[in-house]
Amino acid sequence: MQAVPAEVPDTCRAAVLREFGKPLVVETVPIPRQLEPGALLVKTECCTLCGTDVHLVRGKLNRKVELPVIAGHEMTGRVVAKGKAAETDSVGQPLNLGDRIVWTRTNCGECYTCTIAKQPTLCPDAKAYMYESMSRAPHLLGGMSEYVYVFPDSGRVVVPKDISAPIASMTSCAFRSVVHGFAELGTIKQSDTVVVQGTGPLGLLAAGLAKLRGARKVISIGAPNTRLELATEFGADLAMSVEDSTAEDRKETVLQHTQGLGADVIMDFAGQPAAFSEGLGLARRGGAYLVVGQLGRGTINFRPSEIVHRNLRIVGSLAGGAQDYWEALKLVEAQQQYLPFHKLVSNTYSLEQANEAIDQMECMAEIKPVISMMTE
Ligand SMILES: [Zn+2]
Ligand SMILES: [Zn+2]
Repeated sequence: MQAVPAEVPDTCRAAVLREFGKPLVVETVPIPRQLEPGALLVKTECCTLCGTDVHLVRGKLNRKVELPVIAGHEMTGRVVAKGKAAETDSVGQPLNLGDRIVWTRTNCGECYTCTIAKQPTLCPDAKAYMYESMSRAPHLLGGMSEYVYVFPDSGRVVVPKDISAPIASMTSCAFRSVVHGFAELGTIKQSDTVVVQGTGPLGLLAAGLAKLRGARKVISIGAPNTRLELATEFGADLAMSVEDSTAEDRKETVLQHTQGLGADVIMDFAGQPAAFSEGLGLARRGGAYLVVGQLGRGTINFRPSEIVHRNLRIVGSLAGGAQDYWEALKLVEAQQQYLPFHKLVSNTYSLEQANEAIDQMECMAEIKPVISMMTE
């Protein structure tokens, strides 16, 4: 065990959820004094909000959560203490005190999923930030906290110097989820027409990445109009409003743009169950459907034979691993002068204003609010 330096305080503030449907409360939480080999203590710079945070607080998430938890899972910070054997990050870059990093959920490395299937992001024994009880040591397992504990088996990637804290933070859930989804989907061909459902942060990033990957045409579907304009800035050739059109109108438009065939690739970053039915209908025969946005408990009816008759390939994708974080950071580093990543991160709030930030995200007044821990 390695002692945490004396200059690190004994406690810090964090926004805690004790009951679904109730506001977050800023509480004082103990900071661990000892670090296991490979563990890190990070002083958080900021935590950007993700739609999942809103779902968690409102009690609408379709997964097990062990309350009380520290909210927030999309964050970045600087390393203030290291356990032994933490000399490099997960891609071999030197890891020093003071470096800004992003980090992943854990995976055990010893189970069927990790070892045989080689799908560590799906490890059943994973510990994910924001979902582990904060009442047990090491307590600091959520992003809306002045300090966060990084598990020894959490992947970690050093953030390139010219990426801002909010944009680095955004890569640690939103963008790495998009990058991982694209990896699960496979190659996008230059002949492909890609329809992206959703103009939230993930949908906008997906429109940009589809274009970067060479898609011939990218069609975004979403709302409100300001988001559609942003989709165009990210590279969408066409952006359709769900407010001013029906599902039939949108299908007609997609058919017009694809010689009556339907799109080669559909991507669901919308999150509404109804979007899935619509998306299935927009794919051409033999097309692929990447589903990332569905995290709630809603259900729909659909005819499974559609998948057979139209030879559809449906690909789900959850989270992402260290390679996706690295790739997301490298994409930002290379593209941030061309793509408006900074427009995805909106106003800055303090930890005490976390509930307000969640309200503003829920009502779509904000794309991705930033909870800054840098003011103190
Ligand atoms: Zn997220
Ligand atoms: Zn495992």
